Amino acid sequence: MNFSQHNRPQFIAKAESTEFDLLVIGGGITGCGIALDAALRGFKVALIEKKDFGFGTSSRSTKLIHGGLRYLKQFELKLVRDVGRERAIVHRNARHVVLPEKMLLPIVKDGSLGKQSSSLGLLVYDILAGVKRQEQRIMLNKHFTLEAEPLLDETNVTGGGLYFEYRTDDARLVIELAKSAFSEGALLLNYCEAKKFIKNQSGKVAGIEVEDKISNKTFTIKAKKTVNAAGPWVDVLRKEDGSLTGKRLQLTKGVHIVFPYEKIPLKQAVYFDAPDGRMIFAIPRNGITYVGTTDTVYNQDIDSPRAVKADVEYLLKAVNAMFPSVDLKSKDVISSWAGLRPLIHEDGKSPSELSRKDEIIIAPSGLISIAGGKLTGFRLMAEKVVNLVSKLLKDEAGSSFASCTTKKYLLSGGKFNTREELEKHFEELKSNPDFSEIEDEKLRTLFHRYGSEVQKVLSLLSKQKGSNIDEQILFAELDYCIANESVYHAEDFLVCRTGNLFFAHPQTIEFLDKIIETLAIEWHWNNNQKEAALKSVAALFNEAVTFE
Ligand SMILES: Cc1cc2nc3c(=O)[nH]c(=O)nc-3n(C[C@H](O)[C@H](O)[C@H](O)COP(=O)(O)OP(=O)(O)OC[C@H]3O[C@@H](n4cnc5c(N)ncnc54)[C@H](O)[C@@H]3O)c2cc1C
Repeated sequence: MNFSQHNRPQFIAKAESTEFDLLVIGGGITGCGIALDAALRGFKVALIEKKDFGFGTSSRSTKLIHGGLRYLKQFELKLVRDVGRERAIVHRNARHVVLPEKMLLPIVKDGSLGKQSSSLGLLVYDILAGVKRQEQRIMLNKHFTLEAEPLLDETNVTGGGLYFEYRTDDARLVIELAKSAFSEGALLLNYCEAKKFIKNQSGKVAGIEVEDKISNKTFTIKAKKTVNAAGPWVDVLRKEDGSLTGKRLQLTKGVHIVFPYEKIPLKQAVYFDAPDGRMIFAIPRNGITYVGTTDTVYNQDIDSPRAVKADVEYLLKAVNAMFPSVDLKSKDVISSWAGLRPLIHEDGKSPSELSRKDEIIIAPSGLISIAGGKLTGFRLMAEKVVNLVSKLLKDEAGSSFASCTTKKYLLSGGKFNTREELEKHFEELKSNPDFSEIEDEKLRTLFHRYGSEVQKVLSLLSKQKGSNIDEQILFAELDYCIANESVYHAEDFLVCRTGNLFFAHPQTIEFLDKIIETLAIEWHWNNNQKEAALKSVAALFNEAVTFE
């Protein structure tokens, strides 16, 4: 059976009729990572997500699988080591969507990093993170730093460090995890919100009352153990459980802004000092450059964080100070996104000082909550949580499950054993006469989006009626995502499957009506539903481009 909304009635029937070993709330990177790990160990596992998979923080990050260089400054050595090592594992298991990316760390007059401290810091980082030799840091003099990135200010730069990070498409990584978990037997439902915990006679959580946001019906799911992986919403669910005591979340908002590449044509990604001493990324990618992030305490509506004027001004000031010739203005910003970090509150610490460590909290009701952490460390977090659940089920019910196998599990789309194998696959695609009309860059984007599944997307090209190849590709992708990636709403396709909302704005506007028309035919929408779909995407566009 495909991972498609066409099968939703069967999925819901299964959810209602099964007692699961484990129920996961939250379809971000944390929840989907847990569902995959548990499914691979033989758990009967279900996951519910109130919006789309990845729609929370996991589609709003800096999109780096990184070793957390900045945590060195805070002496979080274990965190640097863990995420550094996980970085290599995530890359190996999802090569198509986690790619090495050279990062330049410029050293500037009066900056927070000097030549010696940068060199030593990067060396310690290489050692702790177990960085392979060919990706270890190289220190550059002023001349070579400016050659690496000519937009830097030559009156201010004194040298630089070049090191490797890995870039990803965070939302796609979540989707690949969800698809992998599904293919290993997990049941995953988007647009299903956990409303109320069902407790047994001893007051232990035994299931959840769920609202299906598509049919508006309510149903229940029974489970022996429940994990709350709701990211920024973790405390909302702990409150509902009546267990919000002791440790609490401190949400901080992080904003990224997007420019057309021509406005800031960086030769490569740069990690630089903002005037207040924080560190900012500027990352060129697929015809745009994005800059971020901010880090400010957030106490407003969790469901709709957005960039405001002050965020944009802060980032513009930082980027213009480091690359004065670009002289960017707020009118140059073509898009933005804002995400919330679900961090653990620590008295007296500023947002940037709060630890990114993950933490597991077990409530008297048995509800297991997991918060904090990074995109990069999701696999390790999942392993810890599933080890815990496995032990509890063994102690309480004598159940026995296999050990964790995710370290060597190639994710959906990532079925390549080596980098050479991946490149060979791409070369074969390029030389296939059926795809000769597609520009190399476009083909590469598609290849990194769908990896070893890309042929299935391209095989749908011949069925498309669009007038040009770009239109045909877009609708082949839509057909594939409807059939295999659980797309229901237009924004599912535009945010978490393709990222087009942020990165291909004009094309999205051009084809929005046709996208909605296609979905309307699939789901038998009436005119009111079509109107609502259009309004919903328009509201998201609006959020990404207006800053109050
Ligand atoms: C600006 C920013 C930049 C970052 N950059 C990086 C980076 O480059 N690299 C890195 O490694 N990490 C980065 N991080 C951290 C990383 O993005 C997060 O740690 C991670 O995405 C959190 O994932 P999550 O699954 O825990 O939460 P989420 O992705 O928010 O998922 C939680 C999900 O739970 C769902 N949910 C909530 N309530 C309910 C309910 N009642 N019923 C059902 N579902 C519910 C939500 O809809 C949501 O989808 C960044 C974070 C931010 C904010």
